[in-house]
Amino acid sequence: MQHPLYQKATYLKSAPNLSHCPEDIGYEVAFAGRSNAGKSSALNVLTSQKSLARTSKTPGRTQMINFFQLDEQRSLVDLPGYGFAKVNVNVKKLWEAGLAEYIEKRDALKGLVLMMDGRHPLQPLDVMMLDWTKEIGLPVHVLLTKADKLSKNQASQALFGLQKTLKQDYPHASAQLFSSLNKQGLDQAWLKLDEWMAFERG
Ligand code: GDP
Repeated sequence: MQHPLYQKATYLKSAPNLSHCPEDIGYEVAFAGRSNAGKSSALNVLTSQKSLARTSKTPGRTQMINFFQLDEQRSLVDLPGYGFAKVNVNVKKLWEAGLAEYIEKRDALKGLVLMMDGRHPLQPLDVMMLDWTKEIGLPVHVLLTKADKLSKNQASQALFGLQKTLKQDYPHASAQLFSSLNKQGLDQAWLKLDEWMAFERG
């Protein structure tokens, strides 16, 4: 399975902060999540490329805003994973100020895909990301990753539980199950990206 837009992703550039980003036009969707949540694997599967996200993991780029261009109007943006930090650390402070500024001020940024390990969703830093994006009005779509590691029952419980919380407290966010291993949820994720990218699949 391939998608005519995302399969075209090619590395464009890495920026340490907002002022070094490409011109602020068109449509961008950014990807974030705790380290190890499966962000790189998801990016590779969404773009049908084996090692696209490895680019963002090369020395010097791990703390940067990494742009992958799709066409003249559109990009995917890989943000630094936010690590295993202490509970009382503000997620905005985990990232360099330049990254927080990108999230808050980038006009082209239409939505944030937030990766959470399906076995441990809503960790404290994930909740902070949801609070922050709600405050600034940035739409979020949660991928509950590694769904292949859950039984059907566990997976639907995890999704249902999360959706209940989102409906109550985070109406700017939606969620789905996802597996990079067996590609569960791939088409659903593409549909959300298409919506944010204002892209119509023929
Ligand atoms: P990142 O740090 O968020 O970019 O996470 P990675 O994509 O590097 O994945 C972290 C670990 O989880 C790696 O060992 C992956 O092979 C594994 N992983 C990622 N996605 C999946 C998945 O959908 N299913 C399974 N079973 N393992 C996964």
